Amino acid sequence: MGGDPLVVRANLASVYGRIRLAEQRFGRAPGSVRLVAVSKRQSIQKIRAAWEAGQGSFGESYVQEALVKMTALEHLPLEWHFIGRIQRNKTQEIATRFHWVHGLADLRHAERLSQQRPVHLDPLRVFIQVNLSGEVTKAGIPPEAVADFIAACRELPNLRVMGLMTLPPPAQGEAAQRKPFQALRQLRDRVSKPCCPLPELSMGMSADLEAAIAEGATWVRVGTAIFGKRPS
Ligand SMILES: *Cc1c(COP(=O)(O)O)cnc(C)c1O
Repeated sequence: MGGDPLVVRANLASVYGRIRLAEQRFGRAPGSVRLVAVSKRQSIQKIRAAWEAGQGSFGESYVQEALVKMTALEHLPLEWHFIGRIQRNKTQEIATRFHWVHGLADLRHAERLSQQRPVHLDPLRVFIQVNLSGEVTKAGIPPEAVADFIAACRELPNLRVMGLMTLPPPAQGEAAQRKPFQALRQLRDRVSKPCCPLPELSMGMSADLEAAIAEGATWVRVGTAIFGKRPS
């Protein structure tokens, strides 16, 4: 499972092309959308190829697998995003080894992550996962509970709440794809306060990143379009 570096490079260029075009098309500032290259179940060689093509942020869903990759690549200044389901017995590794967590949805996890975040590191940057209706998984905070959840997380010294994240079921066509992303943005606008804004929205993947950018995504999480189909 090497992965041809030229293919990864070409795919990455094409994904950045899609992002920049969508920024233009929807009146977003150039460079306002960042990319997490989702490397879960993909090889270390492919991550290295993406790095060599200029990509610095990578998303992983499985802690043990991520740790192996981080160790193999520790000489590179990569930024790691945890995008998987948080398990209670893995919070220590997440708090220690990752820079961002997309998908925080349990206050006990938030408390552990804050406690376990080493003090010499910047606060762990987190997205609150929101369960809009019809979600693939049951993960996520219901919209009406998001404001209180954020307020509780803001009490935790070693976490920094950056924004909201969602993972809607696949939908066909841009109009249908935009609906949940629009709902997330509107929720963000309602719960964001001048004292403590929520600047980031983590939404959009390989198949729907344009729709997410149209609705205000600041991070898109893209795997397949960069690294190809994940081996099963
Ligand atoms: C796997 C995954 C992605 C990437 O999905 P692709 O369809 O491969 O782009 C994005 N976000 C999350 C939370 C994921 O688990």
